[in-house]
Amino acid sequence: MHETATLPILLKELKLSAMGRLWGSMAEEAMKEGWAHPRFLTALCEHEVEERYQKRTERYMKLSNLPPGKSLATFDFSHAPTVSKAKVQDLASNTQWITQGHTALIFGPSGVGKTHLASAIGHGLIARGVSVLFTSTTSLMQKLQLARKNLTLPTALYKLDRYALLILDDIGYVRKDDAETHVLFELIAHRYESKSLMVTSNQPFSEWDQIFATNAMTVAAIDRLVHHATLFEVVTESYRRLQSLEASDKKV
Ligand code: ADP
Ligand code: MG
Repeated sequence: MHETATLPILLKELKLSAMGRLWGSMAEEAMKEGWAHPRFLTALCEHEVEERYQKRTERYMKLSNLPPGKSLATFDFSHAPTVSKAKVQDLASNTQWITQGHTALIFGPSGVGKTHLASAIGHGLIARGVSVLFTSTTSLMQKLQLARKNLTLPTALYKLDRYALLILDDIGYVRKDDAETHVLFELIAHRYESKSLMVTSNQPFSEWDQIFATNAMTVAAIDRLVHHATLFEVVTESYRRLQSLEASDKKV
């Protein structure tokens, strides 16, 4: 046994915690079952990878700020006939658009499920090992604005790079008078073609001149967002309103 005395320490040093926990019992099993060495090693590695994957998913979920429960499983596509289920499923499961730094844009009036759709895609991607941050656009802009005042905007933008996907919810709530629009443009330009953005908006592009300070900035921001983008337009009744109508019907 003395040949393996240092194994726990070596595995700890290599940060292989599942292997450190399991090698003893699995070695016994391997001996009992007559596994060849490569099979034993493969089984141990599989446990390590599985445990890392689970821990990473949990960590990403905690960091993501995604609304809980707003997943694909709870999204009723029959209520959103203009939204292609296949396209949504593809964005939620195929990470290629994320590695390419592409964009997804979700338009539609209030209550139609934009936030739900965006977070459903976010949940799906986290399960595929993608780091995601969901945020209201206005609150992120306030933070970036503060960073700019403190001359730390480049660091703040760089920190956001750890998220392969940044979901900016309700971009239309940003108002150009709030002096937030400059940092919004800088964020869009910073992530262009390198890190993905997903944006929800209840304002069509034609009204985005209310968001950005100048027309030139509006055009430049839209150009960057649509360059490699998947677009969704959710045209339907407000789900919120339907639900409250149903609730009041039941009361009568
Ligand atoms: P928006 O962001 O467009 O204002 P939300 O995504 O916040 O709308 O949706 C409002 C509420 O209705 C949320 O509770 C959301 O989960 C629910 N909802 C909207 N559309 C659907 C849908 N197609 N299926 C299930 N729930 C939905
Ligand atoms: Mg919303």
